[in-house]
Amino acid sequence: MPEPLIAVDHLTKRFPVKKGLFSSGPFSHAQKYVHAVNDVSFTVQKGEVFSLVGESGCGKSSTARTLIRLYEPDEGKILFDGTDISHLDDQGLQPFRRRIQMIFQNPYSSLNPRQTVKEIISEALLFHKIAATKKEAEDKTYYLLQRVGLRPEQADRYPHQFSGGQRQRISIARALAVNPDFIIADEPVSALDVSIQAQILNLLLEIREEFQLSYLFIAHNLAVVKYISDRIGVMYLGTIVEIADEKAIFANPLHPYTKALFASVPVLGEPLQDPAINGDTPSTPIDLPKGCVFYKRCPFAKDICKAEKPQMKEYEKGHFAACHLLAGGGEA
Ligand code: SF4
Repeated sequence: MPEPLIAVDHLTKRFPVKKGLFSSGPFSHAQKYVHAVNDVSFTVQKGEVFSLVGESGCGKSSTARTLIRLYEPDEGKILFDGTDISHLDDQGLQPFRRRIQMIFQNPYSSLNPRQTVKEIISEALLFHKIAATKKEAEDKTYYLLQRVGLRPEQADRYPHQFSGGQRQRISIARALAVNPDFIIADEPVSALDVSIQAQILNLLLEIREEFQLSYLFIAHNLAVVKYISDRIGVMYLGTIVEIADEKAIFANPLHPYTKALFASVPVLGEPLQDPAINGDTPSTPIDLPKGCVFYKRCPFAKDICKAEKPQMKEYEKGHFAACHLLAGGGEA
């Protein structure tokens, strides 16, 4: 197996809960934490699309934000192309900020409304010294706009003059402008019409080949994840409970949570159905259970599940899951 582009190793991020919230009960004076990212490990190979999937609040976006150091990790390591970036200072992070780009669900909020598209993209090209002159930056901007399916004559327009799908194309062009190696796409199509979703997914796949990109793709729509992913990690309460390649995980999900989540695969554009399991959808992972994170909702839970955290084990080549119910399995 070649060296991965990204190796996330036991990454953990906790946020202290403000005093006053959840402050009743016998431990009212103890500091409580939201365990947003809880001992998360995965790799992304060069050229691969690795997706994180799970219900809202399961820690997908927090994992991405910790990975790019928008949040400081509490524990664990982030290796980018062999370099540990988990504790680099701002100056040390600078070259990696260019190589890692992010595409958000709502491109409008990440595009400056007072800048034209040409200014937005040229600025990125000049700041990262990809273009030496204003003229070169303009020419590159026109090329990038065409590449993502927009017309060069649209370069002088402002973000509000574009549709949602076109704005996402602008975000992609801006990300591409700085020659990244790795793109984190956080719910990039969930706000778009169904017909546009497929176009944007196809564009992301085309540019992966052309620009030799790797992706961390975050989505809650399983049809989207199935369409674009090479491998998938399923998250619950800040924890990855199963990882496998796309075909294996849809054909043979192992973890009870994955089984419930994948029981009905929606079509492109439809929201994720609530999994057919008891209990409330988790939203704030505070006071994590000592044992399995899924214990409170799992129909198969036994005493050991409450007391002991199940370890991630490999059950088929490249297919990992963490559940006491599963027999056999090798060390992850
Ligand atoms: Fe359910 Fe126990 Fe497996 Fe957790 S470890 S998913 S509680 S059977």
